[in-house]
Formats: sequence, structure tokens, C-alpha cells
Amino acid sequence: MTDSTPYYTRNGALRVPGHTLESEGDPFSPNGGRYVLQSGLGCAKCSCGWLSVPLGSNRKRRDVHAAHKREVAAAMGYEVRA
Ligand SMILES: [Zn+2]
Repeated sequence: MTDSTPYYTRNGALRVPGHTLESEGDPFSPNGGRYVLQSGLGCAKCSCGWLSVPLGSNRKRRDVHAAHKREVAAAMGYEVRA
């Protein structure tokens, strides 16, 4: 086991070291700079540099980041829960 091994917390949240959602889902511009718009529209940003497409809420950004972590973990050969 290495420090980059994905794992699940006791409450079932998937953790992938190096892939943390920045600012808890606050919006970032498509070039990665943090910004706040009245609409709330912006990209989710991962600590690895990954950016989502622009989305309208922190909730949606958290959801797509969770999917990003599952993809990263699966690509590492980790058995991701359904
Ligand atoms: Zn990432």
C-alpha cells in the first residue's frame, strides 16, 4: 500500500490522495482561477489540476468531483463501489 492508494472512509466517502476538491466546490474559472459570480456558475477544481465543465452549484460540482475520483481510482485498478 502506498500513500496514493484510494480508500473509503467509515461513512463511505471515497478518498483519493492527491485529488481533493478545492474550496469545497466553490466555482473556479475555466483557467483555474477562483471566482465568484452571482449566478454561482463555475468549474469544480481538483487539487490535481482537473477542472469540470462549468456548473451552477457547489452541489453539482461536488457530484462531478466525486465521479472524477471514482474514475481516477478505477484507472489505478482500485475496486470502486457502485
Ligand atoms: Zn483530481
